Amino acid sequence: MSDTIFGKIISGEIPSEFLYEDEHCIAINDINPQAPVHVLVIPKQSIPRLVDAQLNDQALLGHLMLVAGKLAQQLGVGDAFRLVVNNGAEAGQTVFHLHLHIIGGRAFAEGHMAG
Ligand code: 5GP
Repeated sequence: MSDTIFGKIISGEIPSEFLYEDEHCIAINDINPQAPVHVLVIPKQSIPRLVDAQLNDQALLGHLMLVAGKLAQQLGVGDAFRLVVNNGAEAGQTVFHLHLHIIGGRAFAEGHMAG
């Protein structure tokens, strides 16, 4: 679990403020926010990329989505946010421990996936 920066944050090796924690995941503010709200939902179980998830991770993946939705509401962006998963270096993934980005609080270009 401690092989990535997120593993070290989850284990407490790197101190970090958790916005949320339960037995399956944590949420932290992104260190380099791309919007007023930029939160990472990170499973405690280390799955490197989304494509590495297996059928027995199905409940965990669903849980992460539910947590992301509830957190977005609590953070005041429940009506307008994006949930992003970068899968693979060429898609911009830099930390190989699966995580969901909750991005909100700014205007999004209409119909533009990356904007
Ligand atoms: P990725 O590019 O892998 O989808 O997303 C990784 C994210 O983790 C980036 O948005 C980056 O800013 C964030 N990040 C990298 N290192 C740290 C850290 O030590 N603490 C926090 N809170 N975020 C980090």
